[in-house]
Amino acid sequence: MIPRDEIVSWLRETDPSRLDSLWSVADDVRRIHVGDSIHLRGIINFSNNCVRRCTYCGINADNRGLRRYRMSTTEIMECVRSFEELSLMTVVLQSGEDRLVTRSWVAELVDRIRQETGLAVTLSLGERQEEELSEWRAAGAERYLLKIETSNRLLYESMQPDRRNAWTSRMEVLRTLRSLDYEVGTGIMVGIPGQTHEMLADDLVHFGEFGPDMIGIGPYIPHPATSLPSVPHDRTDQVPNDLVTTLNVLALARMICPDANIPATTALLSIGRRRDLKVGLSGGANVIMPDLTPPEYRQLYDIYPTRLSPGQGDLLPIQEAIASMGRSISEDSGTSLHYLKCREAEGGIPAGSIRHLQELTE
Ligand code: SAM
Repeated sequence: MIPRDEIVSWLRETDPSRLDSLWSVADDVRRIHVGDSIHLRGIINFSNNCVRRCTYCGINADNRGLRRYRMSTTEIMECVRSFEELSLMTVVLQSGEDRLVTRSWVAELVDRIRQETGLAVTLSLGERQEEELSEWRAAGAERYLLKIETSNRLLYESMQPDRRNAWTSRMEVLRTLRSLDYEVGTGIMVGIPGQTHEMLADDLVHFGEFGPDMIGIGPYIPHPATSLPSVPHDRTDQVPNDLVTTLNVLALARMICPDANIPATTALLSIGRRRDLKVGLSGGANVIMPDLTPPEYRQLYDIYPTRLSPGQGDLLPIQEAIASMGRSISEDSGTSLHYLKCREAEGGIPAGSIRHLQELTE
């Protein structure tokens, strides 16, 4: 584990040649641990209804100016069926915390996707009850994404005005997901107003302690219809929400959690340009998550402005970018190596039966 004060100084680093060397080491760690393949996960943002009032998020319940939508099972299945011809192996079903997205509806949907397509299913539906998470796992969902957003309890709770112990509750759900044998994804936003470099270093230490299977890192992007302000530029220790800082966090996360799946996130690409897809992938990322939400709904999933997804439904630019880097698209569903190693250590998976592990030891 990199010492905390060293993490802080890397997070403050601005010298381009030192940063190049940091990203290059992260790239080496990525290659040695998880290999050159890039996993594509097709996201369907199927509902923008949300009961939460997170002050950073454009789809929060208080944003009355937003037209709300919820896709039907038929619409989702139609979208999911297009995955096969795009050679995608995983679908990520994401939504706000929508109370009409019920336990039985999700269980039936997951079961149908598993039976009819064989795709791996990742859920990202917010903080849900243990009974719901358990039923969805039994129905065949293998992965769950729930970002902790920041490891700093006070900072997190300052963005959750009406909830007591909001950070602890979110952590409890993450622990429940692990106990239910999900592959667990967490993550943070970089440049939250009030976030210092020390807090960001604590986030990375937190990743090292929690041991996520997947880590999503993206910049905080202010949304005009939310109450969280823009990032102040007059405070000396405020973390900027810029590309370089986000890439530094990504590179350090790769070094601290070498076996995790780490995407070049949509938020990262939204503040950069398309070529920054390559920058993220050269600095530790091994996953891309193209947004395959049908065009009529895509802009309504308005969590932050100028949301730019890799591909915007067209995978050709992604395929070209990957090929031009001499890397390839994974041909399997890309279970997190961290997850597999943990299960193997617990005796849940017979030693040596994991193709990933065999390839890496050959
Ligand atoms: N409801 C689920 C949850 O809470 O995890 C999934 C949907 S939520 C909108 C997905 C992610 O969007 C959050 O974890 C957060 O990191 C990101 N997000 C929301 N607002 C954002 C903003 N203004 N800037 C950057 N990321 C944001």
